[in-house]
Amino acid sequence: MIQAPRGTQDILPEDQPVWRHIETEITTHCRRYCYQRVETPVFEDTNLFVRTVGEATDIVQKEMYTFKDRGGSEITLRPEGTAPVCRAYIEHGMQNRPQPVKLYYFATIYRYERPQAGRYREHHQFGAEAIGDVDPALDAEVIHMAWTIFKSLGLKNLTLQLNSIGCRNCRPAYLQTLVKYYEGLTADLCDDCKARASRNPLRLLDCKNRTCQSAADGSPKSVDNLCPECRDHFEALKKYLAALEIPFNINHRLVRGLDYYTKTVFEVQPEDEGGQSTLGGGGRYDNLIEELGGPATPAVGFATGIERIVVNMKKQGLLPPASQGVDVFMAPIGEPAKLAALKIAADLRRQGFTAMIASGGKSLKAQMRQANGFAARHVAIMGDEELKNSSVVLKNMGTGEQKNVAIAALAEAIKQNPAAGT
Ligand code: AMP
Repeated sequence: MIQAPRGTQDILPEDQPVWRHIETEITTHCRRYCYQRVETPVFEDTNLFVRTVGEATDIVQKEMYTFKDRGGSEITLRPEGTAPVCRAYIEHGMQNRPQPVKLYYFATIYRYERPQAGRYREHHQFGAEAIGDVDPALDAEVIHMAWTIFKSLGLKNLTLQLNSIGCRNCRPAYLQTLVKYYEGLTADLCDDCKARASRNPLRLLDCKNRTCQSAADGSPKSVDNLCPECRDHFEALKKYLAALEIPFNINHRLVRGLDYYTKTVFEVQPEDEGGQSTLGGGGRYDNLIEELGGPATPAVGFATGIERIVVNMKKQGLLPPASQGVDVFMAPIGEPAKLAALKIAADLRRQGFTAMIASGGKSLKAQMRQANGFAARHVAIMGDEELKNSSVVLKNMGTGEQKNVAIAALAEAIKQNPAAGT
């Protein structure tokens, strides 16, 4: 038996209502915050991610789905959404549009990770990017949009973790301070962190290993090592978040897993869970577009995993109503009745009802069984007699009540017992 590849999952019909509900809420908020939808390819030139995400990151080192295509091009399945949007911004000359350019996307993301609860090899992200403005008010607005979306879905007990990791002016000196601090501690670190100490020291701070965590707790903080510009930016951001009444924790161990971040980084987490369950996160990336060969363009963005939102909504009992069932199931007996039933069903659908027709030349009993299987609210039975009188026998499957209804009055009769959610 061929099964779905490890770390992927099917989103079955019963889960569609919650997925659609999340998408609708997100789209509504994107419109209110003036973001426009963009779509980029599922695969890109491998260099796009190596250059932006960072050679020393877990994503580039271990997680990318990379292959040569039949023409010999180096291709990678999208392991994150920001770099492709920035590539599109440059490629389509969006710097000539009014700035900031605010874009959002829904995208499948591919990472060769060890699958576990809430961690997949293919997952779905919603992301938003505000490109072309350095104002910390824009960081606050992105955070506010993320926060508002989660709240509008009914999610409770969330925390906002916030940090500033500086810019290319102040970070090198901070990294030196950090490396120095870790010099005497390397013996106690996990193997990954031993390698990180020279290759990617910032990531020493967010290791999940307990001994690494206690070393990180006492480490020098990036917020104490910011240049005046980054410090002012961070102070202003905190002021704006306070004005928007968004509570936040300054978390000096929050650094995020991608190299392109500058200044602001943030994550939204369920209160009672660890980092594995992060709902979403983002930050500022003021050099990314320039590093891709575009004009120097500051930007800030955010992404969230839809699967994580679904898990948290289920945990908190926040499910939307199930999808609408079958309003009327047509049960024709004989070919002439079937022909009429096809037309009646088409007409009812035009009026907004959900309608099904019994399949095959089944007996009435078998048709009733089929109607029950689809939880139809009504069955419209039609034999030669009814056909002659332009009527149907309408059975209300909730009450069992049965009556003759003229075809012309059928829609009105069905309305008396409408489907949930209509
Ligand atoms: P990242 O691009 O790593 O910042 O991830 C953004 C968001 O996507 C995270 O906060 C999670 O909600 C979600 N996410 C990241 N990786 C996975 C994964 N492997 N499986 C499911 N969701 C994920």
